[in-house]
Amino acid sequence: MSDLKLGFPGISLIDDGAAAAAPLARPAAALTEGGHHPIAIVGSGPSGLTAAIYAARAGLRPLVVAGYAPGGQLMLTSEVENFPGFPDGILGPELMGRMRDQAARFGTEIVDADLVSVDLSARPFRLSTSSTAWTADALIVATGASALWLGLESETRLRGKGVSACATCDGFFFRDRKVAVVGGGDTALEEASYLTRFASEVVLIHRRDSFRASRIMVDRAQENPKIRMILETEIAEVLGETAVTGLRLRSTRTGEEQVEPLDGLFVAIGYRPNTELFRERLEVDEKGYLVVRDETSSAVEGVFIAGDVHDHRYRQAITAAADGCKAAIDAERWLEARAHGADPR
Ligand SMILES: Cc1cc2nc3c(=O)[nH]c(=O)nc-3n(C[C@H](O)[C@H](O)[C@H](O)COP(=O)(O)OP(=O)(O)OC[C@H]3O[C@@H](n4cnc5c(N)ncnc54)[C@H](O)[C@@H]3O)c2cc1C
Repeated sequence: MSDLKLGFPGISLIDDGAAAAAPLARPAAALTEGGHHPIAIVGSGPSGLTAAIYAARAGLRPLVVAGYAPGGQLMLTSEVENFPGFPDGILGPELMGRMRDQAARFGTEIVDADLVSVDLSARPFRLSTSSTAWTADALIVATGASALWLGLESETRLRGKGVSACATCDGFFFRDRKVAVVGGGDTALEEASYLTRFASEVVLIHRRDSFRASRIMVDRAQENPKIRMILETEIAEVLGETAVTGLRLRSTRTGEEQVEPLDGLFVAIGYRPNTELFRERLEVDEKGYLVVRDETSSAVEGVFIAGDVHDHRYRQAITAAADGCKAAIDAERWLEARAHGADPR
């Protein structure tokens, strides 16, 4: 994991989830009319930008409302080594910059702002940021999910330098190193087990005295000789200047502190799908993720769904990109069928 500056030039990257967590601002009284687009896409991660590439190449002049985190979750990481086509790996922000350029090359209009309101009650749909409103015949929701973080300054500073939220993505970088996983649910236990393939030791840190995870996952972790559990303990600070060198731990029972030297920290305390704007009209599952029908469709005709905003199973750039491709093709066919008076469903 290398040192890097996150964000596209000229675009400030607001911390992931910050805007989504904040109450949604009401659109200003007088909005500039941005015009009509056959397709609008909300989100500019791998799913949104891939949808844009496909829609733009189909001549559908897509609008991308890129949101508070242009480029999405990959802007928070350094090396991406599992996206096909880059045998030597590529930096997350560089990969997303390339996707953005590719979408723009075919005529995508990209707006770096948050969508703050959307009306799906009638077609064309109406969507607006705090300053501009557009209409669109079809909408692709690609707003992703935000990894939850502990909220420590040291954790933010060392993200991509030993602190990660994705073991599948970054575990490989910790061969024969000692790492920690923090969390108490199934994901944390799963990530800890996965990391034992690479790491020499995995320390599982949880602030309570028992896990929320299923019994079978806990048993499996307890039987794994590479996993050591430290319970009733929280992380007070991630140590290191340019790379993680250890953790300052604090007992949640006694307040006593200790230093655990190690090389990496995987934060596995959950994800929040960015679905606030759509919950009223679109179906969400028990974890708050959007529900898809027939690959990319939603409960509202003309609204399609792509990427991590519905997928809590794979959560990878390549699966999100594939979803974006499928959503754009489905939207294009739906528009085509409507234009010919056919029942698109
Ligand atoms: C630390 C880390 C490292 C990772 N490393 C890898 C890796 O090496 N390889 C890999 O394959 N995957 C990796 N992943 C996973 C990968 O980043 C995600 O699976 C992928 O980014 C999901 O793409 P997406 O387009 O669905 O959503 P996201 O990337 O989450 O993008 C969501 C987009 O929606 C926008 N948005 C949200 N709300 C609004 C709104 N109201 N208005 C407008 N826009 C909005 C955001 O601004 C953002 O642009 C990693 C994830 C993390 C957290």
